[in-house]
Amino acid sequence: MKLSLVVPCYNEEVNVKRFFDEVNKAFENKVSDYEFVFVNDGSKDNTYSELKKLYEENKASAIQVLSFSRNFGKEAAIYAGLSYAKGDLVCIIDADLQQRPEVVLEMLIEMEKDDSLDCVAAYQENRRESKTLSGLKSGFYKLINKITDVDFVNGASDFRLLKRTMVDAILEMTEYHRFSKGIFSWVGFNTKYIPYTVEERQFGETKWSYGKLFKYAFDGIISFSTFPLKLATGVGLATAFASIIYLIVVILQKLICGIDVPGYATIVVLVLLLGGMQLFCLGILGEYLSKIYVQVKNRPIYILKEHLGKDD
Ligand code: UDP
Ligand code: MG
Repeated sequence: MKLSLVVPCYNEEVNVKRFFDEVNKAFENKVSDYEFVFVNDGSKDNTYSELKKLYEENKASAIQVLSFSRNFGKEAAIYAGLSYAKGDLVCIIDADLQQRPEVVLEMLIEMEKDDSLDCVAAYQENRRESKTLSGLKSGFYKLINKITDVDFVNGASDFRLLKRTMVDAILEMTEYHRFSKGIFSWVGFNTKYIPYTVEERQFGETKWSYGKLFKYAFDGIISFSTFPLKLATGVGLATAFASIIYLIVVILQKLICGIDVPGYATIVVLVLLLGGMQLFCLGILGEYLSKIYVQVKNRPIYILKEHLGKDD
């Protein structure tokens, strides 16, 4: 098998058939040996029955359909797809046609041109989103690049073509909290970035809200950096230092100028300030602890309920 397309699908009933047709159209006479690995990530709509129909009506095409027992998230869907992909090359691509199959052809050409490449990743040249959102995302990339050792390319997503060696390396990383952008960089290998434009979503809805994006960004930082822990130490040290200075100032005021310390208000302010900082630092510790807690339970990243096309 030359190429596997790993396609995470969550509530994409209107898109899967369209996606299948568009890929076949784009690949006609250009790519001959490819398979689809659709991962139904616990969709609540008819995605699974649409995929099953697709599988049954197109026995001539190589199609695998993995279906989870519930929604485990896109990261888990990617991991499952990569685990079952049979291709020497694997491309991760969304089901909603925002990432055009024609770009996969460009990736294949790049890969063929340069034998030393292990990965061709697409990055968004022009973001089709509000200024606020793209500003926030750029800020996130600047921050995460500063506080981690791995490189994160602004606008690069999981839309990428990978060689088998890199796929196997990614599969070795069995961590529960998966942050693909970090994992792709962490495993290393030679990656070329090519620009592409994200299409508007024609059908169905995006699964991202501002809240989810913040959580995703925060989890990414926790997964790939211990900086927040150091920040907690820094905040603790700074507060301790500031309180010593304050204490000296108060004592000197009393001794030299005879000014009494305004007691109650100061105490309330200090208790709130110190309490707040302590809770902040405890919160950071808690975030790491909760991740460790889940990881040591060693639960599977996903649970498969169905697998169509396993032995085809
Ligand atoms: N997706 C998934 N599981 C989820 C959320 C999303 O498999 O829990 C899939 C979704 O079906 C789509 C891809 O991940 O194929 C990207 O999702 P979406 O289009 O919502 O993200 P956006 O393009 O808005 O970043
Ligand atoms: Mg999308």
